[in-house]
Amino acid sequence: MLVDIGLFVTQTLSSLRPYESKRDPNSPNRNLAPITTELDDQDRLVVGGCRLSDLAQRYGTPLYVLDEESLRSACRAYKQALEKHYPGSSLPIYASKANSSLMMSGLVASEGLGLDAVSAGELLTALQGGMPGDRIVLHGNNKSDDELLIAYRNNVTIVVDNQHDLDRLAALIPAGSDPAKLMLRFTPGIECHTHEYIRTGHLDSKFGFDPDQLESVLTNLVGQPWGVLTGLHAHIGSQIFELEPHRDLAGVMAEALKLARGLGHPVTDLNVGGGLGIRYVESDDPPSIDAWVQVVAEAVANACRQRDLELPRLLCEPGRSLVAPAGVTLYSVGSRKTIPGVRTYVAVDGGMSDNPRPITYQSLYTTCLADRPLAAAEETVNLVGKHCESGDVLLKDLPLPTTTSGDVVAVFATGAYNASMSSNYNRIPRPAAVLVHGGQAELVQKREQPDDLLRYDVLPERFRTLR
Ligand SMILES: *Cc1c(COP(=O)(O)O)cnc(C)c1O
Repeated sequence: MLVDIGLFVTQTLSSLRPYESKRDPNSPNRNLAPITTELDDQDRLVVGGCRLSDLAQRYGTPLYVLDEESLRSACRAYKQALEKHYPGSSLPIYASKANSSLMMSGLVASEGLGLDAVSAGELLTALQGGMPGDRIVLHGNNKSDDELLIAYRNNVTIVVDNQHDLDRLAALIPAGSDPAKLMLRFTPGIECHTHEYIRTGHLDSKFGFDPDQLESVLTNLVGQPWGVLTGLHAHIGSQIFELEPHRDLAGVMAEALKLARGLGHPVTDLNVGGGLGIRYVESDDPPSIDAWVQVVAEAVANACRQRDLELPRLLCEPGRSLVAPAGVTLYSVGSRKTIPGVRTYVAVDGGMSDNPRPITYQSLYTTCLADRPLAAAEETVNLVGKHCESGDVLLKDLPLPTTTSGDVVAVFATGAYNASMSSNYNRIPRPAAVLVHGGQAELVQKREQPDDLLRYDVLPERFRTLR
């Protein structure tokens, strides 16, 4: 009986303190809020030593806040787990589509990680942010000639996704010059439980060679002067909580490694992709970074030993689990509409343009008021954005203390696939982003201004007289 009461009390408390619940200092992906989240003497939320409502005041809202300590501890968790669990060499590679900026490139480079890019924009951001070309991997199922050439000239490893990539590289790389470093992506035929839009390992996917094509592609690549095959790649999807698909992947990849090496390709790298999930809401229960790496590392090592293969360098590509938990988005409350007996809408100054995940994937988030995180809920509302779509709902049926215009709302775990997926829908400028650390905040992305949105518009000359 006492135990029951104890549990009840803990659960009530923990749901009042989402930023503290399930805190795991060793694995940021299991935390609902950044590692440094705490309360000041008046119970207001503080991240990276900065009071969130002060940041909102100083930089305006909506505002993306990124906690440097959470970012660095996630990088280190991957590095340390690989060193601990994998007997060979290894490199975690940050999937920059999760959040691409000069700052992110510089930060992950300084932690000794590599970086994946999928476009000329992400490549340039990585290079100019300080990531050495030889630690960058270029992905993409429809790369342009420009993208291939930027990669080649900067010593970036190119992940060949399909025959079109092979044909273009053969045409683009001049005879007698150094070969491009290639990795080959194939679809491993592994299903996992996640949203269908972010599943990539099943056979019916636009990414990578079909496993049935692998042998002929590898055979045709033997002796080509313009490319040298140094790695194999597969990625099964995103926001995955299961470990079995990653274990199964190791066997499929080791078999491909055996085939490639048997044909004489000098394959040293096995790249198992990313996909580890994070905790968005209290009921989510992802494995820790250490547990995920352990399963992957042991499975790869075992699968290689069983086939008498020399251990490859093990690469993995975390995106979400590296950056999502470090992010908090701040919004200001504006208007409200109450429909008696139906529902109350509370509107904030952002929405689907800065966070398209709820409208795209029906994603859930955890939120609280920046200055009253401990206040008891007094009403249930739909927290909505300011865009002209009824689907622009950040959180449905959210229990909240009564809010008034100007209150700052903090939405947690927005570091991944928010800024990078943001749009200018309704011509709404993109938010600023700040990096917080030890009580200091640094602007890492300036707030877009309405004027910026006109920069690429051209008014035809014959319409000018109408103004
Ligand atoms: C998206 C992606 C990743 C990262 O996935 P997360 O789920 O964010 O870890 C890694 N590799 C490739 C090829 C991807 O497309």
